[in-house]
Amino acid sequence: MSSTKLKDSNHEGLKHFDWSKVETVLLDLDGTLLDLHFDNFFWREMLPLHYAKLNKTSLESAKETLYAQIESVSGTISYYCLNYWEEKLGLDIVQLKRNFCEKIALRPNVLQFLNYLRKIDKRVILATNAHRESVELKMDVTDIFSKFDRIYSSHDFGFPKENQAFWETLQTVEPFNRHKTLFIDDNESVLKAADRFGIQFLMGILKPDSQKSNITLDGYDQISNFGDLMGETF
Ligand SMILES: [Mg+2]
Repeated sequence: MSSTKLKDSNHEGLKHFDWSKVETVLLDLDGTLLDLHFDNFFWREMLPLHYAKLNKTSLESAKETLYAQIESVSGTISYYCLNYWEEKLGLDIVQLKRNFCEKIALRPNVLQFLNYLRKIDKRVILATNAHRESVELKMDVTDIFSKFDRIYSSHDFGFPKENQAFWETLQTVEPFNRHKTLFIDDNESVLKAADRFGIQFLMGILKPDSQKSNITLDGYDQISNFGDLMGETF
């Protein structure tokens, strides 16, 4: 069965999304529920600054080195692994993140959307590539922990969401019906992996980082505001 991509240029169709066809909602964290600005700011700006200080190098050279290192492991579990970066860079990443945690923020209408899913009785699962320590920090700041039935980090399985092994392992611990599941993520490779696995309903995010332009996720409908997915009765 092929997945349903809700192609709709004006997004009005999302208001009429048929929730009766969905039992389980799988949600990404960074860039989907949370503003990706925190992560982009941290990895692209703050980390190079501290790396430059530690290694007594220019900010420009620190950025060049770090961006290349980050790019070289893109899409692998190391890319998302705080322990990997702490070892590689000799920096206390978790502590550094805590220093900037005031930048962690929910995207528009996320709290209302999570409450709405509870109200219409869906199973709500967080499926993230974020490291457990990062998830904990973000849950502390945003206070949305209680909104999920389960929280899975790909680090529990050893495979990122880009990999079929993630989905196969998730299916063994969380026996969702893939034909009655909606998955929302801001990463095209991840959406494609979920698509290949057979998740029926797939949606992307239009503007994961509030400080950057809209993105294009080829082949997937993109939500600009979670209010678009809530029924008229909300
Ligand atoms: Mg994401």
